[in-house]
Amino acid sequence: MTGSTPAPFTAADHRARMERAARSAADAGLAGLLVAPGPDMVWLTGYTPTAVTERLTVLVLTPGRDPVLVVPTLEAPDAEHAAGSSALALRDWTDGKDPYAVTAALLDDRGRFGISDNTWAMHLLGLQRALPDTSYASLTDALPMLRAVKDAAELELLAAAGAAADATFEEIRKVPFAGRRESDVGHDLAGLLRRFGHEQVDFTIVGSGPNGANPHHEVGDRVIQHGDMVVLDFGGLKDGYGSDTTRTVHVGEPTEEERRVHDIVREAQEAGYRAVRPGVACQEVDRAARAVITEAGYGAYFIHRTGHGIGVTTHEPPYMIEGEEQPLVPGMCFSVEPGIYLPGRFGVRIEDIVTVTEDGGRRLNTTTRDMVIVD
Ligand code: ZN
Ligand code: ZN
Ligand code: ZN
Repeated sequence: MTGSTPAPFTAADHRARMERAARSAADAGLAGLLVAPGPDMVWLTGYTPTAVTERLTVLVLTPGRDPVLVVPTLEAPDAEHAAGSSALALRDWTDGKDPYAVTAALLDDRGRFGISDNTWAMHLLGLQRALPDTSYASLTDALPMLRAVKDAAELELLAAAGAAADATFEEIRKVPFAGRRESDVGHDLAGLLRRFGHEQVDFTIVGSGPNGANPHHEVGDRVIQHGDMVVLDFGGLKDGYGSDTTRTVHVGEPTEEERRVHDIVREAQEAGYRAVRPGVACQEVDRAARAVITEAGYGAYFIHRTGHGIGVTTHEPPYMIEGEEQPLVPGMCFSVEPGIYLPGRFGVRIEDIVTVTEDGGRRLNTTTRDMVIVD
């Protein structure tokens, strides 16, 4: 069993996505899209090569023409399986042939193309060599909203991934923290995500005490102490769709200051969530959350954007950030995750995935946002 996402999408779904992508490319003034193996290819076709190697695999989407998947001959049988389910024409190339010439034959030799961000540089250089008069734009820059609005089936998968992450939190809050290393708790988190159905764990952040003040801290050897705040941020893919949630717990009774900071972050998260409704610009979600933290005097300690989209990856457009004027649309899914980071001391972050509905937002994470006390 290879070459397909476990998500329950049909050939018709993939065909519709490819047609929409090609239309959007034309609207953006592009001669087509070149899509490498990865999230865009999975979303568009359902196809994932068994291994991504130096051999060129690329999906060519050209407005008004049938999509073509260029594949190495040895991958063709697997690709054919995927092609059969999504009406893709295959163009295979054997070792010793020039795959860029094969691809170039499908392209307008003076066109500007959107190319997926994770395309290997050697492949883009090869195409530029084969077609020196073409030019390229980042697919994400050119069509940032291509995958942003989720359909009903995608929303169901994202909700299921969120529920699995919530189940993980309900279990992790019961394990001992004090006296164990962050990496031990991280290991527990990964095991629980898998137990609740994730096929891929993308991150398990356990930021205890001063490590919680570094939002990029993953896990380390630090032994968690009684009295520590611990930021727990974890997620991955379940049935091809992402989860990402954060709760900040405390080992034993918190101080008054720790409680106050946690309350501010919880209020900021609530304000960000309440700002979500159709037509509102993404930056308004960031502003709403940030205002609470700024008014409480901690503005300088909220050092990242408020949120990011989620879908077949755990970080994608739309971004909830100052300057992003993209209006929210029902079906978009993204995180609302304000935080306060006090260097050398502790950090607090609270994160839910939220989806835009016709009349507001709906949280896909529903575990308590009150501070949980752990042992
Ligand atoms: Zn404490
Ligand atoms: Zn997160
Ligand atoms: Zn996140």
